[in-house]
Amino acid sequence: FLPHLMAALEQVDETYIMVKPDGVQRGLVGEIISRFEKKGFKLTGLKLFQCPKDLAEEHYKDLNAKPFFPKLIEYITSGPVVCMAWEGVGVVASARKLIGSTNPLQAEPGTIRGDLAVQTGRNVVHGSDSPENGKREIALWFKEGEICQWTPAQEPWLRE
Ligand code: UDP
Ligand code: MG
Repeated sequence: FLPHLMAALEQVDETYIMVKPDGVQRGLVGEIISRFEKKGFKLTGLKLFQCPKDLAEEHYKDLNAKPFFPKLIEYITSGPVVCMAWEGVGVVASARKLIGSTNPLQAEPGTIRGDLAVQTGRNVVHGSDSPENGKREIALWFKEGEICQWTPAQEPWLRE
């Protein structure tokens, strides 16, 4: 009974993960998707997308006073990105750990940025920083009908 109650209390979160234009140009899409897939999270949304300027500005609105903001918008809109929604218990914090520090030179080996990038301005991937922002960003980048609810066959082998 108690484990069932505790499981029921475990919050399923969602996070917005995006392969940035450098990750797409460098052929890292499959590698990056694999990191989350192998971990055991559930993919609920996926598309290749050319981001318009206004969407990039809305996505990064909290950073609009930063000196690097114009270059950040230029970077994110410079080519197609791969938009993803991932779901799972603890997925937001875990995805941030899999991604690693913002500055790839400080990111630990074994993380996506630590293994695959060398500069903050070309750090190959985005991940939401809170469950609230996960929901906000998925709603921003995906239309209704682009998110799929499904049960992976491996689920009983991932969670007792
Ligand atoms: N960024 C940058 N210069 C900086 C800080 C951030 O170009 O000094 C870019 C970088 O692409 C980063 C994004 O802005 O991923 C968003 O910054 P944030 O601090 O939210 O980092 P993140 O959450 O992506 O690790
Ligand atoms: Mg951030």
